[in-house]
Amino acid sequence: ERRVEVGFAEDDTSRLLFPQVADAPGVARFVTVMQGCDNYCSYCIVPYVRGREISRPAAAILEEVRSLAARGVKEVTLLGQNVNSYGRQAETEPDFPALLRQVAAVDRIERLRFTTSHPRDLSPNLIACFAELPKLCGHIHLPPQAGSNAVLARMNRGYSREEYLAKIAALRAARPDLLITGDMIIGFPGETEADFAQTLALMEAVRYADLFYFVYSARPGTKAAEFPELLDAGEKQARLERLQTLQRQMTLECNQALLGTHQELLVEGMSRRGDQLYGRTSGNRVVNFTGDPALIGGLVTVTVTEAFQNSLQGAVL
Ligand code: SF4
Repeated sequence: ERRVEVGFAEDDTSRLLFPQVADAPGVARFVTVMQGCDNYCSYCIVPYVRGREISRPAAAILEEVRSLAARGVKEVTLLGQNVNSYGRQAETEPDFPALLRQVAAVDRIERLRFTTSHPRDLSPNLIACFAELPKLCGHIHLPPQAGSNAVLARMNRGYSREEYLAKIAALRAARPDLLITGDMIIGFPGETEADFAQTLALMEAVRYADLFYFVYSARPGTKAAEFPELLDAGEKQARLERLQTLQRQMTLECNQALLGTHQELLVEGMSRRGDQLYGRTSGNRVVNFTGDPALIGGLVTVTVTEAFQNSLQGAVL
């Protein structure tokens, strides 16, 4: 369950999505590849406060990744507001799929993730990376924000529900076991009951492993702050609860679908209770298991033996 009080910018969810990077700094790290955003989603303040997109030179990124690998880091998450537009302003830089291939070629880096992807800019070339690069983990965060075309247009997202679903289908064709997470805004100005029903239907079509959701509130200075608010607080709350109930059910089903499977984990540390180890699957699910603390920092394969709402239990093979 992921109700969060931060803004709506997609990068806000990155640190919630990948808490292992904070928990296990010796094993998994963020590497910033670009900053800023040129998109101007109507509800978002990021382009005003963080400025235009700027990409770091690929040479500097690769040097940082190599030095992390030399210090024992096994997993890197390439980070940016909209990683798909990496390198767009500089002809001398690779595009994002090319950068991903270069990072994947760094020795001793075993796993690669990235966030966040704007659905409009998710290219066939990037989708192909999921079929091509074994180090690229089987998870993508692809925030839809709404399920109805009318709302998506008012949000200035630049894609339709149909285009979004076509990209999900292409991703799943490239990597059949891919787990998908997203962000959704509830009660955007003018969201009708029919629009909201489309949001729930989109969730059922995609079957998100996890969803971060935000009850809309206006951010001063954004275009959407000028849109008339139609929903009262009670109706927003009722929609929130409907969305929450559906997502909790789908998250549990996603975890239950992993029962009996073998999963490779990057072991990040001791579980909160302190009596077990925990690690993450390629699909970014937490698995607790009993094992030797010497396993921390390495990869281990487990069988999933129990599935809960927020975690899995495993046994070392
Ligand atoms: Fe904000 Fe939209 Fe840019 Fe994400 S893509 S940072 S929501 S303007």
